[in-house]
This record gives sequence, C-alpha cells and structure tokens, in this order.
Amino acid sequence: MTREYPAEVDVAIVGSGPAGSAYARILSEQAPDATIAMFEVGPTVSDPPGSHVKNIVDEAARRDAQSRSEGPSAGAETFSTPGVVKTGERRGRAGTYLLSDGYQVEGEDGLPVAAFSSNVGGMAAHWTAACPRPNDSERIEFLPDLDELLADAERLLGVTTNAFDGARLSAVVRERLATAVDPGRAPEDRVQRMPLAVHRRDDGRLVWSGADVVLGDVTRANPHFELFDEALVTRVLVEGGRAVGVRVRDRRTGDEHDVRARFVVVAADALRTPQVLWASGIRPDALGRTLNDQSQVVFATRLRDIDPADVPHVAASGTLSEYSGVSWVPFTDEVPFHGQVMQLDASPVPLADADEVVPGSIVGLGLFCARDLQWDDRVEFDDTATDYYGMPAMRLHYRLTDADRATIVRAGELIREWAAALGEPIGDRPFTMPLGSSLHYQGTTRMGETDDGRSVCSPDSEVWAAPGLFVAGNGVIPTATACNPTLTGVALAVRGARRIASQLA
Ligand SMILES: Cc1cc2nc3c(=O)[nH]c(=O)nc-3n(C[C@H](O)[C@H](O)[C@H](O)COP(=O)(O)OP(=O)(O)OC[C@H]3O[C@@H](n4cnc5c(N)ncnc54)[C@H](O)[C@@H]3O)c2cc1C
Repeated sequence: MTREYPAEVDVAIVGSGPAGSAYARILSEQAPDATIAMFEVGPTVSDPPGSHVKNIVDEAARRDAQSRSEGPSAGAETFSTPGVVKTGERRGRAGTYLLSDGYQVEGEDGLPVAAFSSNVGGMAAHWTAACPRPNDSERIEFLPDLDELLADAERLLGVTTNAFDGARLSAVVRERLATAVDPGRAPEDRVQRMPLAVHRRDDGRLVWSGADVVLGDVTRANPHFELFDEALVTRVLVEGGRAVGVRVRDRRTGDEHDVRARFVVVAADALRTPQVLWASGIRPDALGRTLNDQSQVVFATRLRDIDPADVPHVAASGTLSEYSGVSWVPFTDEVPFHGQVMQLDASPVPLADADEVVPGSIVGLGLFCARDLQWDDRVEFDDTATDYYGMPAMRLHYRLTDADRATIVRAGELIREWAAALGEPIGDRPFTMPLGSSLHYQGTTRMGETDDGRSVCSPDSEVWAAPGLFVAGNGVIPTATACNPTLTGVALAVRGARRIASQLA
C-alpha cells in the first residue's frame, strides 16, 4: 500500500467489502491492464487485508481487530456470540458499531440497532458467511443470467457446503428438522446444509472467507490495483452529468485529493452508498428509499437423546468447535422465511442465561422474514449536520406494517414447531431481535429494469442519473429477500464489473 494518490485511474472503487472487492476481482481477471484504486475509510485489521477476523487464532489479537473495525465505538462494549440481548437494549455485534443518532423517528419503529463496520473487508471480516441463493420471489426476475451470476459469486466468495461434514451432530439436526419442514416441499427446497463461504485448509483448519478471498491472488498480484485504507471518499466528482472521479480525504493527514476515473463504483454499504451519492448532489427520487431490514425471530433448543460421546469438548479447528454445523431451510413463497439452524457458537441467538450453554447440545434457530416493502421506509440525509466522519448525518424512517407484524407472529409459531422437533426448547417463547439486527439492509440504491423513477440504477448497476457511476452491495437488491443477501449482492456486482470490463477492454 502506498500513500501516493494517483491523479487518474480507470476505475475508482469506494469501499473494500465483498461488493467492492468483487469489482476489483472481475476487473483484474477481465481487464488486466485497467488501473484500479480502491478507497476504504477504515483501517486494515487483518492479514491478508480483508481477511476474516475469526481466522485470527490469538484471542487478544482477534478482539483488537474487531475493536479497530468499530469506527467511533472502538473500545466500547459490544457483544460477541453467543451473546445476551434484551428488548430495548442497544448493543452491537463485535466488529460493528451502531448508528448513534437518527435511528428512530418518534412514532416509528426505526432500526434501533442499525450497524456498520469500518475496516478493510467491511462487515465480511466479521460475518457468519451464510451464502444461500435467493429463491422464488426473492429472485430478480428481469435478470435472465441470475443463476450464472450467482454461480460466479459463489466462486468469488469460495462457497462450499461440506465444511461441517465432520461435525458429529449435523446429520442429526438435519434429520430431525426435516420431519417438521420437508413434508410438501420440492426436493430442492428441503432442509439441507447451508452453503457457507468457508473452506478447509490442508491441515484441517476452517478458513472463513472475507474480502481477501473475493479479491483473490489475481487482484493481489495485479500491478495496476492499489488499496488505500483510512481514505474517506467524500464525494463523487460529476461533470456534464457524468461521473469523472472521486474526492478522497486521507484520514491520517486530513489532506484531500481528487482522483479522476473513467468509472466510479460506490460499494460503501446499503446506508453509506446513498450517503456518498447524496453528498455528491446525485439525488434521484428513489435514493435511500424502500429501505429493507429482515426481521429476525430466534429460539434455542437442547437436542434430546444425544450421546455425550458425540459432543467433542475440544475445538477441532482452533477458533470454532464443530458440533452441529449450519443447516438451511430455504425460503419459498408458501413459507416465506429463511431458516438457519446453527450450533450456538456460530449463532447470534440470545439465551436467558448464557452460563447454561453446554456447547454442542444446544442449537440456535433463526428465521429471517421477508419484508412488506414500503417506499416511505428510507434513509434521509441532512445538509446541515454531519456524522463522525464528517459525512451528511443520517435519519432512518422505518415502520413495520400490519403484514410485517403478522409475518413475525407466523415465524414465531413456526420456530416453536422446529425447536420441538429438534429437542427441548429453552425458554417459554421465541425472541424477536431488535430491528436492524439482521445487518442485511437492502433496497436503498435499488436496481430497476427501466428508469421509471422507482429505482436508482440499471440492471448493470449503473446509476440512471449519472452515467459512469455504479453502485454495489445489498442496497442494489430490489426484492424482498429473507435469505442472507451478500451472495446476491456480489452476483449483481459481477454483472456491473463485467459491463465496465467490456468497455475498458
Ligand atoms: C456479525 C455479522 C454476521 C453476518 N452474517 C452474514 C451472513 O451469514 N450472510 C450474509 O449474507 N451476510 C452476513 N452479514 C452481512 C454481510 O457481512 C454484508 O452483507 C456484506 O459485508 C456486505 O458487503 P458490502 O461490500 O456491500 O458492504 P460492507 O462489507 O459493509 O463494506 C462496505 C465498506 O465501505 C466502507 N465505506 C463506507 N463509506 C465509505 C466512504 N465514504 N469512503 C470509503 N469507504 C467507505 C466501509 O467502511 C466498509 O468497509 C453479516 C454481518 C455481520 C457483521
């Protein structure tokens, strides 16, 4: 990494999470002569840059990497998994920090625990790495190549389904769950192993994919690619309606630099990508609108009739014991929930008394709900107030509809059935996580088939209002997904990156 900012590049990328990294990777593969500069406001916290902090074996070093990702909250109290969270309590997951103001307008539900990560690799240095494909109405119907894009996204993220095959309880979990879930479902929609961005090293250790895996060796070896950490992009430069570069503030020196670019990609997460566009005077009607967070209902159950010999006491892979792995119940239009059943040390499920946890015998169940999308749910920005980084301050408008509340009730009923099929449920009722807990914010720079005023960007992710400017990340997803969105976000980034590559080649 160098601190000499280029005057000009072919492509400037804002944000180093999996979405921005997907652009760098595809461009390195398909337009190897193109010059690429990636700007990331947060510090480098892991080696190789962007790698998952869960791969850091030393606990103190891991905690330090998490803390340095927490922007203005670095050093403040957060919770790690398995954690305890109570209704009304605002605490963030390790490696993230909460929006400090503007998360709830009086009289609305808001997103009280809306969160961010500011570090090289973004949230994917801290994520759970579940990578299910979208199904039924989660899919983007106007993209004929969606399956091929998803397959390429799986390649970039290093998705596997066999990482936990050695976990002794995973088959038991799937078999029991299947009795409650599978009747009436098509084979492909039945209980199955969760696709995870995880692979196993030759020595047997699990390696969790972060943005480093998305970048891959081809990007790291690309002499025309440069990553600048602690570099805040304050605006996209626009001339004659077209994006022509970015203004960057070096957070170490405070100096500002204009970097001209033929193409600009803003991949700064679903709340900060619209912030950068707003700060640049690019303010189409749909910007920040149709904000979508997946409500999450969780429960825990103690597996019944387990032979203690099947529960190993020693972590098989250094940082994670392998007990029951991660199982998946796919979303369908008939049962519109995405289900994750996970061993507890990989799960955010809260327990009344964390001391009771006997790892391995307890699994956490989580149901993510598809949203009743509303145009008025939105992130707004203030021209007169600023956030910690000096960018326009955010205010979130967010209200659950009656349909959303009914969906949450239905999720609660379903999760009780599933918990009972697995064992003895812990606690008398499921828990609805505070809004914003999903960390799966979407829709704010949504993609549309045509420029009809209800979308921000084209099917190639190019902003209708500013040719040459591409937006990336979960904010681009226009559908009401319940599944974890990163794979889909990366798939859409692949499409945009190929478009840019074809114009540069
Ligand atoms: C604990 C946890 C568990 C999760 N589990 C899952 C899961 O199992 N499956 C799943 O699909 N998703 C999961 N997620 C969410 C997943 O990590 C995100 O969907 C994914 O990282 C989004 O990628 P992105 O590149 O769009 O954004 P991010 O990863 O958030 O990266 C955006 C980057 O842009 C930077 N940035 C912002 N503004 C600027 C600016 N103005 N200038 C320069 N840089 C800027 C940020 O600092 C950040 O590093 C989880 C997240 C967390 C924290």
